[in-house]
Amino acid sequence: MTNISIIGAGVGGLTTAIYLQKEGYQVTIYEKNNRPGGKMDTIEDSGFKFDTGPTIVMMPDTYKKPFLDSGVNYKDYFTLERVDPIMDVITNNKKISLSSDLVNLAKEFENYDESEMLGFLKYVTDIYNKYINAKNNFIYKSFRGPRDFYNIKTLWNAYKLKTFTSSFTAIQKNIQNTDLQYLLSFQTLYIGISPFSGPSIYNIIPMIELIYGVWFIKGGMFTYAKALEKRLIELGGKIAYNATVEKIVVEKNQHVRGLLVNNTLIKSDAVVVNADFPYAMTNLLDIDDDKKGKYGKKNIKNMDYSMSCFLLYLGVNKKFNQLKLHTIKMSDDFEKNVQQIDHGILPDDPSFYVYNPSSIDDSFAPSEKSSLYILVPVANLKENTDWSKINTDRFTKEIIHKVEKELNLKDLEKNISLKKVYTPVTFQNRYNSFFGSTFGLKPTLKQSNYFRPHNKHSKIDNLYFAGASVHPGAGVPIVITSGELAAKELIKDF
Ligand SMILES: Cc1cc2nc3c(=O)[nH]c(=O)nc-3n(C[C@H](O)[C@H](O)[C@H](O)COP(=O)(O)OP(=O)(O)OC[C@H]3O[C@@H](n4cnc5c(N)ncnc54)[C@H](O)[C@@H]3O)c2cc1C
Repeated sequence: MTNISIIGAGVGGLTTAIYLQKEGYQVTIYEKNNRPGGKMDTIEDSGFKFDTGPTIVMMPDTYKKPFLDSGVNYKDYFTLERVDPIMDVITNNKKISLSSDLVNLAKEFENYDESEMLGFLKYVTDIYNKYINAKNNFIYKSFRGPRDFYNIKTLWNAYKLKTFTSSFTAIQKNIQNTDLQYLLSFQTLYIGISPFSGPSIYNIIPMIELIYGVWFIKGGMFTYAKALEKRLIELGGKIAYNATVEKIVVEKNQHVRGLLVNNTLIKSDAVVVNADFPYAMTNLLDIDDDKKGKYGKKNIKNMDYSMSCFLLYLGVNKKFNQLKLHTIKMSDDFEKNVQQIDHGILPDDPSFYVYNPSSIDDSFAPSEKSSLYILVPVANLKENTDWSKINTDRFTKEIIHKVEKELNLKDLEKNISLKKVYTPVTFQNRYNSFFGSTFGLKPTLKQSNYFRPHNKHSKIDNLYFAGASVHPGAGVPIVITSGELAAKELIKDF
């Protein structure tokens, strides 16, 4: 039997493992932490439960796919519930209830002007067209060599994406009002890139949100990580927890022999890396640096990294009935806010996102209490932000005051009984995220599609990659796709 070792039990590693185990390979995942999911993680304390990473479920069909493709009904593993309105978005003190119901959405846009609704429909037509192109030709396709990209058909499809302007400039072409422009542009932050500098193709994110809806997994996101783990074990796969991989052992710079775990060689016919790609290339891949090509130590450090997050998880002895599942409060000067993040400056008027799962799911907090998650986008650790010099307690207090005041959550601070804080350093230490970046390599044009690290190593014949920093990119559904692509690349070879 072919033995496959996978480094990391994040969404990418678990998905690859399910596809491979289903095909008859013997898969073992080695995971440094003590549970599945990677950044799709949880904290449980004093009766409160928190999802600590992803919270917004988009593209629900992709979540179902590893279950359907491995021959079971996803409904036996997790439950999806539609969320509508999707979220409250507050820009310039105006609250907009963003809905994926066209009737409600039309009302919101027409409240501004009928021409804005017309502009919205033009935006959707244009971006939906590009989405179909991206989906069929780039997202669900893996690249190995230059011929996979540099051929007339693919280059023509890439040209048709017309992705050279920024997301924000593309939105401005159809939408005139600044609040509405912001409403359709902050979503690029979901993958850690600024709408003011990121390629316009990422306008597909708000489109996907509005066309396919936003969903909630009963019990929270970690339920999904447990569901993947359960399916893998049922198929006969194994997971070793608290097992930090120290090295990927390679013969003659071209063939993986196995993994070094606890100083012991675990022989493997092939290895799939789900640990963050730049971290793994720098710290795990045991080959001469000059054989790493464009992913040698120096080049890797010079690549662009996505933003990071400052997070507060609060157990609160109070319910806030007006607070929806998802609320986003945008900075009054959103462009300045994003520029500060890009330049490593701690924002003076940050945008923030609040997740209140206890508003719809009793498993998150005892009755009449709330489990709140507050996310503030901040710079990664490459951008000169030194968290050892930041007064985290003061920043925490400032954010709590801001949330209390701007969302009108009376007595929030007084009622906090549990408080946990994650900074970019937590992401670096707990998940080995390079530069503490929460969404991996930044999806700039130079680091997207064919130009993003591939799912198979170009020189080593039995080494594969799945995860946010490799093709097709970050975000749970895209990482699930990455896991499937990595498995298919391996199956092609064995
Ligand atoms: C705060 C936050 C909010 C987010 N919000 C959303 C959202 O709402 N919706 C959405 O779709 N996406 C969201 N995302 C993005 C999404 O969570 C990630 O893109 C995705 O979970 C990444 O999965 P992964 O498998 O690539 O990596 P990871 O989850 O990082 O998994 C990699 C695994 O490898 C392990 N590992 C690393 N090094 C080693 C080693 N040496 N030995 C053994 N194991 C190792 C790590 O411990 C980890 O378990 C969010 C992310 C964060 C952090």
